[in-house]
Parts: sequence; C-alpha cells; structure tokens
Amino acid sequence: MADEWRRYLAQQAELGGAEVILGAPLAKESPAAPMSADRPSTTAPRPSGESRPVEAPRAGATEPAGTAAPGKAAEAAGSEPKWRRGAPPIPGPGITVLSPAPVLLGNDIGLLDTLDAVAERIRTTYCCELCPNRTNAVPGEGNPKARMVLVGEGPGATEDATGRPFVGQAGQLLDSILEAIDVPRSSVYITNIVKCRPPQNRKPLPDEIAACIPYLHRQLELIAPKVIVAMGGTAGEALLGVRKSLGELRGKVHTYNGIPLVVTYHPAALLRNPNWKKPTWDDVRIARQLLDR
Ligand code: URA
Repeated sequence: MADEWRRYLAQQAELGGAEVILGAPLAKESPAAPMSADRPSTTAPRPSGESRPVEAPRAGATEPAGTAAPGKAAEAAGSEPKWRRGAPPIPGPGITVLSPAPVLLGNDIGLLDTLDAVAERIRTTYCCELCPNRTNAVPGEGNPKARMVLVGEGPGATEDATGRPFVGQAGQLLDSILEAIDVPRSSVYITNIVKCRPPQNRKPLPDEIAACIPYLHRQLELIAPKVIVAMGGTAGEALLGVRKSLGELRGKVHTYNGIPLVVTYHPAALLRNPNWKKPTWDDVRIARQLLDR
C-alpha cells in the first residue's frame, strides 16, 4: 500500500499536481458556469477532408463494448478514485462538428471495414509528400473497441523508426498521464492527424492534413469511442475544422460526430514547459469523467 501511495505521489509530482497531494480544498462540484457556445468561424480556411462545423449535434454515439472503466472498481468499493480528488467539473459545450463521410471525399476509405484494413491501406499507399520520406507509416494502435481515443499531431523520429505512435519521450509521459487517470494504455486507441513523420518534426501542412485526415475520420467511425482527446492545437484544429488557438479550444467539451472531444496540451509541449502539466492534468480528468457519464 505504501508503495502504491508513493508511486501515486510521484505521478502527481510528475504531472505538476502537488497541490492535489497536499489536500487542497476540493473544487466545488457545482455545475460548470455555462461557457458561451463557441460558434466556429465560417471564414476559417478548411482544407477539404477536415471536419465541418455545424450548428446542431448529431444524435449521441452508441457506447461500444469496450473495457470497463477501471475507476468504477474503486467507486463500487466505496472509495473515490484518486484522480477525481480536486478534479474540475465538466465544462460547458464548445464546437459541434460532423466529419464528412469519406465517400464524399472521393475515395473509398469508408469501405475499409476494420482498423487493420485502414492500417494496411496507410502502410501500402502514398497520399501526400510526407509518405515517400517515411521509414514506417504510423497508422495508430490500441484497442479496436477503445472507449477513449487520443489523437496527436504526427509521428516523431522514434515513431517513424518503429511504426508505433507515442513511443518516444512524449509517449512515456502520455503513458504516465493515462496511468494517473486509471486508464491503461492497452485500453485506449492512440493515433495522429498525419500518419507519416514531417521532416524535422515540423507541423504538418494544411494539404498534408487534408490528404491524411480521411483515415482518422474512418478510424474514429470504426472505433466509435466514448471520448476523444485531441493533444495539441494541430489535432484540435484539424478534428474540429477551425483555426483557433489552443487557449480557445481548451476548457470546453466539443462534439465530434456526437462524441465528446476535449483538447489539451501535446505531451511534447509539457516536456518543454512543465507549467502546462497542471492544466493538462485538469483536462485529462475532465476527459476521464466523460468516460463515466
Ligand atoms: N508526437 C505526436 O504527435 N505523435 C506521436 O506519435 C509522437 C509524438
């Protein structure tokens, strides 16, 4: 037990949540002050293939059979999961989008009926200028029935070398974040906006995103998760089809094809600026609560 507690404290320190450890007063669990509904800009440039902001949400996605919410065991036993102490309440709604059906994008990606088939297509074809320079494409990996899908920007050097997402330094930090919210990496699906490494880890260009994002739309359609976490502004903007800062996208529960979507910092950004760990800890605890809703 002492070991478990020590590991938890270390994890909290790593996530910048020391005040949680020291028993700061719990965030008041009053309903979130409704945030102003964020109307997406109609003038935002939107490469074809990106999501389409709309006024009305689609009917809620059905909950797939997936792994049970691990924190439920603690709750059933009468104890509050540790990640929930001081967690912010679920915030108000943000942007609502419907992704275009891949068939409307003039391709047959919508006909690929398993994640393996999507991955095979990604590995065996070129869709943009990034593809010829890859060592490996990185389609994504994880539980095909995941209740949570996490989306990053694009593969880095370690991911390009291995063909697996988030296995470098940022991936290790992501693993500890997931562990801290009682969501094992093996229970989630992890992927990226673009599936091939941009040179020098630069941000993917709009036409690269437009060429690759139909794969992500199809992956999300096949998995039908209960919550999506967009890690970083590039992932948030591409999934929501808007041009906005990370500050504008955080702190709201957006809706992607009826699925709640939370935007947070990219783990690589946390490695550069540890001050962002605490807000990230808040964001992922919001996403974690959405799993139980
Ligand atoms: N950064 C990303 O955005 N994706 C990865 O897979 C690794 C690092």
